[in-house]
Amino acid sequence: CSFISGCCKDSEKLCQFSTINALMAGCYQGQFKCGDLTRMGDFGIGTFDKLDGEMVVLEGTVYQVKADGSVCPVSKNLLTPFAVVTTFSADRQIRLKGTYNLLELQKQIDRRLPGENIFYAIRIDADAAYIRTRSVPAQQKPYPKLTEVVKDQPVFETTDTRGTLVGFKCPDYILGLNIPGYHLHFISDKKIFGGHLLECRVRDPVIKIDYIRQLELTLPPGGDFDSIDLRMTDGDSL
Ligand code: ZN
Repeated sequence: CSFISGCCKDSEKLCQFSTINALMAGCYQGQFKCGDLTRMGDFGIGTFDKLDGEMVVLEGTVYQVKADGSVCPVSKNLLTPFAVVTTFSADRQIRLKGTYNLLELQKQIDRRLPGENIFYAIRIDADAAYIRTRSVPAQQKPYPKLTEVVKDQPVFETTDTRGTLVGFKCPDYILGLNIPGYHLHFISDKKIFGGHLLECRVRDPVIKIDYIRQLELTLPPGGDFDSIDLRMTDGDSL
């Protein structure tokens, strides 16, 4: 972004690598370097080569939450088949008092957003009385569809931790390219717990929202993507 941070509202860009339909159809081969992601943004989510875990990008560091629950920062050369990042700069901050589950949290955010038609990067820092996440194990070829993989996904729960929800809310018209609605991942402050968020109960959350009006889509440089039938995923959803 060529704008000086803070001088220009909504100046951020959503940088997306590959499409959710391609991922759901089994395009798990890593095609983009994590080092390339962090040149495009310091905040985001995704997965890794062979679908090896959940990605959380926070403050410029890419973390991998593996299927065994372990969390570690990754090297610049590790590859990803799908990721979405932005340079996070909050346009709106909301401090809530009380305890909220995931649906309540989303409702609280929804009623404060200007509308359903732009993209939002969402960062929520909070004490978590309860967090439930999932990750996914590395897959072997021939790659199964994502809907098959998540049927026996490892699920993790923890209580009384502190951490950050990292993710996006996308408009409905993005269907096929990305996931409409909320898609959040979690990482604990100590970087020992994380994953794709399934449920939570958070206390006194501090919510930061970045309004985004630009989308940059980069498709994989060849590989399975060029020939895969993306119409096959009709009706599937995560
Ligand atoms: Zn996810």
